[in-house]
Amino acid sequence: MGGEPNEARVVAEVPKGLLVAGQWMDASDGATLDVLDPSTGETLCAVADATPEDGRRALDAAAGAQKEFAATAPRARADMLMAAFDLLHERIDDLALLMTLEMGKPLAEARGEIAYAAEFFRHFAEEAVRIEGGYQTAPAGGSRFLITKQPVGPALLITPWNFPMAMGTRKIGPAIAAGCTSIIKPAQQTPLSMLALGEILREAGVPDGVVNILPTTRPGELTEPLLRSGVIRKLSFTGSTAVGRVLLAQSAEQVLRTSMELGGNAGFVVFEDADIDEAVAGAMAAKMRNTGEACTAANRIFVQRSVIEEFGDRLAKAMSELPVGRGVEEGVRVGPLIDEAAREKVQTLVDDAVAGGARVLTGGTAPDGPGYFYPPTVLTGVPASAKMGSEEIFGPVAPLTPFDTEDEVVEAVNDTEYGLVNYVFTNDLRRGLRVAEALESGMVGLNQGVVSNPAAPFGGVKASGLGREGGRTGIEEFLETKYVGIAM
Ligand code: NAP
Repeated sequence: MGGEPNEARVVAEVPKGLLVAGQWMDASDGATLDVLDPSTGETLCAVADATPEDGRRALDAAAGAQKEFAATAPRARADMLMAAFDLLHERIDDLALLMTLEMGKPLAEARGEIAYAAEFFRHFAEEAVRIEGGYQTAPAGGSRFLITKQPVGPALLITPWNFPMAMGTRKIGPAIAAGCTSIIKPAQQTPLSMLALGEILREAGVPDGVVNILPTTRPGELTEPLLRSGVIRKLSFTGSTAVGRVLLAQSAEQVLRTSMELGGNAGFVVFEDADIDEAVAGAMAAKMRNTGEACTAANRIFVQRSVIEEFGDRLAKAMSELPVGRGVEEGVRVGPLIDEAAREKVQTLVDDAVAGGARVLTGGTAPDGPGYFYPPTVLTGVPASAKMGSEEIFGPVAPLTPFDTEDEVVEAVNDTEYGLVNYVFTNDLRRGLRVAEALESGMVGLNQGVVSNPAAPFGGVKASGLGREGGRTGIEEFLETKYVGIAM
């Protein structure tokens, strides 16, 4: 793998149309959108740019396929997901290269994401055949309750650019498993991975109209009529809290079922009794996965005062040794950020923290040259007033802040509107469990820097979202519970 001929080939091979009713087609007005390589700023290719009219076509296709798909045998739906799982693994090299080209993450991480994405299909293939109901006697006797689960109906699935494949399969997997048809709107910066997945789902035997894919430069114009149509019954969104709030308001009109995976502001807490090697490795994972462009990224690192100097020195050394470059190059561990706006935001947050008294241990200045690169950066003594304490950095910047007591750090970590994930490093079991319980987040990493796992319920509280993806609960988000009261 690697090398320019392969790069050109994988881009050439991906479908460039909209997937509607099982067919690849141009946008109704013939418009296209350019997809760029963030490591060079150059155009990779153009894909069809869906119009609201295309949205209506996709809606008709999803609605038209819903009844028959809901009646498909669960085993048949599971088999489709397993076939897609196998194809994702068969094509993992090409798919990883494609993802690296459009998104920037290093090839090894892109491969990791394809495997992670595929795992959602395997997980939900296994769930598809285990959708359970119930039968019980009414407490007063006499009548019976028959409890059954049915697909919620056509779903709108909106995904972000940072995990172009996995955020899709995390929604498409349970939708197919539950028997829901869907319209997918991928992020406009990274449509290629989703289009490649669309072809895989076709080959895997997913019936026409069950999965429709619409990249667009007009997200609001496309999706708002769908949410208000009365045909879509479910919204599953992964993205920023700001956009999530808008979509929740739009979903209120038709009282839609919603799953919202929104922004994060993860705290990462290192107690003085932690294994510092483990804590540094955990911080590297929690901070540098996806070049820091993850909702789960450690955004605020709190280190007990007695160990902050040692921890900071070790983290800065490890961070400064990471090779930065085009993700397709051998050995590169840190790719570019998604675009210039993202890079400027990171620089602004770093400058603000430094102006407030933070000290730069490594990094801190964007390099010249093509591509949206930013060096791994460690700041220490970041004041509580710094803007990066309340905003997602979404870049390779680790801000360290000292703390003294357990109560103080729990209060500081919880002092945010977000509540997706937090991380705690300690070798004191009681303290670990006590702090994990006290933290206001949907997930906690206890002595580990990664929590994403398809078999676990992923999601946040507070402004980080509603609902859970993955785990046993992931499929429930696409199912309605019906109870039939039976007179005996
Ligand atoms: P974003 O700007 O909210 O975009 C997410 C998706 O929403 C994209 O497909 C985007 O389309 C679309 N969108 C934007 N405005 C819209 C509108 N008015 N109506 C309908 N759709 C609209 O977020 P992002 O910058 O791509 O992604 C980063 C954010 O996602 C971060 O906040 C991160 O924390 C969050 N995230 C959360 C999770 C989680 O599981 N909790 C996972 C990953 C990421 P365009 O591409 O056209 O803008």
